[in-house]
Amino acid sequence: MAEAPFVIVGGGLAAAHAAKTLREEGYERDLVVVAAEPHRPYERPPLSKDYLRAEADRTVLFPVDEAWYADHAVELRTGTGAVGLDAAAHRLALADGTALDYARLLLATGSEPRPPRLPGADLQGVLVLRTVKDADLLAASLRGAKREGTGRVAIVGDGWIGMEVAASARSLGLEVTLFGSGERPLRVLGPRMGEFFARVHADHGVDLRRGAEVTAFTGADGRVTGVRTADGETTEADMVLVAIGAAPNLGLAASAGLKLRGAELGGGIAVDGALRTSDPDVFAAGDIASVPSPHYGRPLRIEHWDIALHTGPHAARAMLGSEEPYDRLPYFFTDQYDVGMEYLGFAADPGGDLVVSGSTDDLEFVAFWTGDGHVLAAMAVNTWDRMGEVEDLIRSRRRVSDDELEAFRG
Ligand SMILES: Cc1cc2nc3c(=O)[nH]c(=O)nc-3n(C[C@H](O)[C@H](O)[C@H](O)COP(=O)(O)OP(=O)(O)OC[C@H]3O[C@@H](n4cnc5c(N)ncnc54)[C@H](O)[C@@H]3O)c2cc1C
Repeated sequence: MAEAPFVIVGGGLAAAHAAKTLREEGYERDLVVVAAEPHRPYERPPLSKDYLRAEADRTVLFPVDEAWYADHAVELRTGTGAVGLDAAAHRLALADGTALDYARLLLATGSEPRPPRLPGADLQGVLVLRTVKDADLLAASLRGAKREGTGRVAIVGDGWIGMEVAASARSLGLEVTLFGSGERPLRVLGPRMGEFFARVHADHGVDLRRGAEVTAFTGADGRVTGVRTADGETTEADMVLVAIGAAPNLGLAASAGLKLRGAELGGGIAVDGALRTSDPDVFAAGDIASVPSPHYGRPLRIEHWDIALHTGPHAARAMLGSEEPYDRLPYFFTDQYDVGMEYLGFAADPGGDLVVSGSTDDLEFVAFWTGDGHVLAAMAVNTWDRMGEVEDLIRSRRRVSDDELEAFRG
């Protein structure tokens, strides 16, 4: 009997690069990628940026060409979700009623937007953003709001996606009201850097509502017309994007009884350094994986592009027998207006000690989060090619004075 294939479940960056790595590392037996969406695996950052603004076409989304899969005998089962996992039997149940046996399995099922559970959430024009389909709908709604509507857009949620879409909508000439529940946006950056981004958006004309409790969406003829807040006010809008965070897709892992990490550690599928789950033939990568960090001495589950880019290949090598522990520092980037930002590291308390080198007013600086005099994480704004030095600082764990950090940009 032919040996069962290696199977990858997922249609994102982690899945694409895992498949590529398996072939590059010499895995020659059958390989199947099961992806719920109708596309081959793609990446998401352009969906809130250049793709949304129609400055780039679909080709930017796909890290691996269509022909590559055929040329490398990778079977793509798109438009088919996996709905059940029996790890003991090494069997995956698919939504089309078929089953797929595997020798080794990689779960790379990513995340889904948290749904808005508010009155009016089912009105036409209340949108979320995760997939190409969502982005196409959002782009059409933005264009429609400008051409046929009042040009007003409401965004609920002041995290990365809300802020990036706000920037894209402003550059498309729309009026944007952004509702955040906290004192300032991007709470993962702490007060000072959250305030920096608040100012950038205010300078670009975004009406930022702080401490806003959205209670309902108002509508007429089945279409959204506004956002109601707890203070009784209704803000008119032609369309609403709800961007209140994402939750990892853990259904398969849970159905197989794989070990999950507690909420206090960010949840996700518990994996070891090789990205192996509690079942020795099942691996996990990308948004869903809670990966032990040798540097920070704790597991991290981080929903960022770079994690998917590197954990996919790392898991692929582990499926082929590598035991090397994953040891990259978390990295993230964002582009909003004229602000290009890179972030490296992890600061459990973003409100902790912060040292800034350069000028926030001039939009060119590096901010360092420190603990006990060590650099834990840093964010570089419009400052390029310095991440190698930042990484050395973080990894060295050496004590660094505030003066030295302030002088970092020279
Ligand atoms: C709009 C947007 C902008 C972003 N911008 C940035 C950015 O600027 N910088 C950054 O660092 N990060 C960014 N991110 C985050 C980054 O895209 C994610 O961290 C990354 O997509 C995670 O990749 P992944 O492969 O783990 O999962 P995903 O990209 O979520 O892919 C998972 C795929 O698996 C499929 N799937 C799920 N369940 C099943 C199943 N049961 N069977 C089959 N298929 C299934 C899904 O349909 C999906 O296609 C952004 C995310 C979004 C949504």
